[in-house]
Amino acid sequence: MTATSHALVGGVIAATIPDPSIGLPLAAISHPLLDLIPHWDVGFNWRKTPKLKLFRDCVIDLTLGVTLAYILFGQEAPLLYFLGAIFVSEVWDLLEAPYWFLKWDFPPFSWIYEFGHRIQNKAKPPFGIITQIVVVTGIILVLKLI
Ligand SMILES: [Zn+2]
Repeated sequence: MTATSHALVGGVIAATIPDPSIGLPLAAISHPLLDLIPHWDVGFNWRKTPKLKLFRDCVIDLTLGVTLAYILFGQEAPLLYFLGAIFVSEVWDLLEAPYWFLKWDFPPFSWIYEFGHRIQNKAKPPFGIITQIVVVTGIILVLKLI
């Protein structure tokens, strides 16, 4: 999914689950689970996308995600826990970055790329964006209502 979707889920987990020993593993595991849902993201056609454009799009996506998550949930958890939850919810894709940008085709980057590649369920826009809006909104509502 987009870094924005992952950041929002990591952020709402920190905001609604006060215990980091539960929230952090949950935020970490949310990443591969969310990627199983059909989705679009900036890495959709990454092999054919110019590296500079891909990098720019990743940075915009991540910045947007962290900013939105902070506006919505940043006041509801200690800052370090909040940022930690977002970090572990994004780290899977961050660890793929050396494979994408530097062609580091060796472990652990190649393993993480392989894993991410296998579980990614790609879908074109608009469907691949709608699925994320529905799923992320649903997760936020459920966690907020519990
Ligand atoms: Zn991912």
